[in-house]
Order: sequence, then structure tokens, then C-alpha cells
Amino acid sequence: MRALAKLHPEEGIWLHTTQRPKMGHNDLMIKIHKTAICGTDMHIYNWDAWAQKTIPVGMTVGHEYVGEVVEIGSEVEGFRPGDRVSGEGHITCGHCRNCRAGRRHLCRNTQGVGVNRPGAFAEYLVIPAINAFKIPDNISDDLAAIFDPFGNALHTALSFDLVGEDVLVTGAGPIGIMAAAVARHVGARHVVLTDVNPYRLALGRRMGVIHTVNVAEQSLDDKMHELQMNEGFDVGLEMSGAEPAFRSMLEAMNHGGKIAMLGIPAGDMAIDWTQVIFKGLIIKGIYGREMFETWYKMASVVQSGLNLSPIITHRFPIEQFQQGFDVMRSGEAGKVILEWDS
Ligand code: NAD
Ligand code: ZN
Repeated sequence: MRALAKLHPEEGIWLHTTQRPKMGHNDLMIKIHKTAICGTDMHIYNWDAWAQKTIPVGMTVGHEYVGEVVEIGSEVEGFRPGDRVSGEGHITCGHCRNCRAGRRHLCRNTQGVGVNRPGAFAEYLVIPAINAFKIPDNISDDLAAIFDPFGNALHTALSFDLVGEDVLVTGAGPIGIMAAAVARHVGARHVVLTDVNPYRLALGRRMGVIHTVNVAEQSLDDKMHELQMNEGFDVGLEMSGAEPAFRSMLEAMNHGGKIAMLGIPAGDMAIDWTQVIFKGLIIKGIYGREMFETWYKMASVVQSGLNLSPIITHRFPIEQFQQGFDVMRSGEAGKVILEWDS
């Protein structure tokens, strides 16, 4: 089968022919139809310090996908050939305390599809059946292919009550934009989205997020005055991993505010802890998606009318994967889809 893999310890990714992955008795074999490029894939492409210490050379990359079940392990129930599925990219151990308590997103032994085990940028993917999620008929393949990052956005956004609240989202990458759109959809009052990249802020506005601030040009304070927000934000969703963004978020929070942090800082990050202490802030780290509550909620939030389609800005047949990676690197893209059926 064809697969995109990290074949050499240097910048880049390569399309090659390899063996189909082997099935276990609890697994599904999925024929991949569409995949999407994640920021993680870009770290692997760029071969940065994290990728060098994490990714074995030869690894098939990718974990955002939609496909069709073509083979079913002998112990698997609840799936049939032809089922359209996406899947949770975190493979959990099932035997640690959190797994056994049903808190699989807190598993200590998580393995990543396309990171620690062969991924979805391939004609066929094998995953444990429990990780697969059946896609309802009225959700498109394109949208199903981005359920993994949408799940990051939804998990973060739904960490705290947003109804009637003022919400600050720092970082208008695809995940920040989707989180801001979710915040509006579920009834926040003001949702303010910040970035330093005008293309992405414009994309956020196309997704219905009215209040955007390019913090390289305008101060967040000005926007807060304009919105007559005298006290500060109730909820913060940190989606950039950028130290200045997190610092400004701490300053802009109201007392008693709550912050959910998904963005991954490049290294240690110093903050003014008095902001946290004297304001009584609550900060929650977010990793991945809740298994599998976030997946069910993704389907129902889309079915209740959230329109995510503008976030998909580019589509390429797999032969043109290089163009997909190039446009992701340019920063002038939302989600980029690679099609395997062409
Ligand atoms: P992205 O890199 O596409 O988006 C980050 C955005 O932050 C960019 O648009 C960038 O211009 C912006 N930014 C940079 N400096 C800023 C500043 N000072 N103020 C505001 N914005 C600023 O990433 P993404 O794919 O949307 O993912 C968002 C973040 O979440 C990334 O840090 C990613 O590594 C992380 N992530 C975490 C998990 C998890 O499970 N915790 C999962 C996926 C992604
Ligand atoms: Zn576990």
C-alpha cells in the first residue's frame, strides 16, 4: 500500500510503498478516504527537537482521517464492513487507574497513532476497535476527517460553563478558531479571538467569530473597552502555546476566571503568579479528547447547526502532498485535506 512516512532523519516526508499493517483480534482495518494535516505532523515534517527524540525513522505519520471499515478482528462487536469511521488517535492502555475508571483521556500510558505506532497517512490503518467512531450519515467526509482537532477544540471549550460568559481565545490556529466558534454556538456573550496572523483572524471571522484582535497591532484592552467589558474575561481558552499570549490572558481575566490550556509552549514558561493567586484563577490543562464523550458531542454539535466547513481551506490528492505541507508551513491555511481515493 502507499503511505506517507518519515523515511529519513531530516526535513520532509516521503510517499512510498509499504506493507499493510497487521490486524489483531480486537482491531479494525480501515481503508482511508481522507486525511488532514495536524500541527504535530508539521513538527515531524520539520524534524524539530521533539520529533527527533520521539519519532522512529520509517514511521507512517498522520492521525486525522475518515475511512471505511474493511476488516474486523474476531473479538470485535458493534462494527460492520462498510461502516464510515474516524477514530481517536490516543491509544490507551486499559489497565491503569484512570482507564479503569473510564477516564481514558488521563491514561498514563497513551500511545499516539502516527507518532508511536503506524498512522493514517496510508491506504490502510489498523486501530483497536474501541478507538473507532462511527460517523453519522449527515456529517461529510471532510468534516469527519478533522474530528480529531475539532475534538481538541470542543474538549477545551466545554471545560467550563460558557453560557452568557465573556470568553478570550488566544491563538487563531484551526483549533482556536473552532473553539471560538463552539463558544459562540453554545451561548457565550462576547468571544474575542487573538492572533498575530491576519489571514487566520480573517478565517476566524469567516467562521462567525466577530471580535478578533491582531495583538501585533491592537491592544486587547482597547477591544475590551469597545465591548464595555469593565471587569475582564470569565473564561480563557489558550490555543497558541505562545508565552506573550498566556501572559496577556492572565492580565485580562476577571477574578475567579477559569482557563483551559491546550496550546503547547515550546519550553518552560515564566508567568506572573500573583495574577493567578490574587485573582483566584483556575487553570486546567487539556490533552486530547475525552473518550468518548467528546466524540459524541462533536457529532451532536455539528448536527445542532455549528458550521465548521470554512475551516477547511485546501484539498489535495495525495500525490500532491508536498503542496499540502507547503501551504501548512506558510501559515496561510486552515485545515488542509489530503485525499487518498483519487
Ligand atoms: P497553530 O500553530 O496552527 O496555531 C497557533 C496560533 O497561535 C497561530 O495562528 C499563531 O500565529 C498564534 N499565535 C502566535 N503568537 C501569538 C500571540 N502572541 N497571541 C495570539 N496568538 C498567537 O496550532 P493549532 O493546530 O491550532 O493548535 C493550537 C495549539 O494547541 C498548538 O500549540 C498545538 O501544539 C496545541 N495542541 C495541543 C493538543 C493537546 O492535546 N494539548 C492537541 C493538539 C494541538
Ligand atoms: Zn491507561
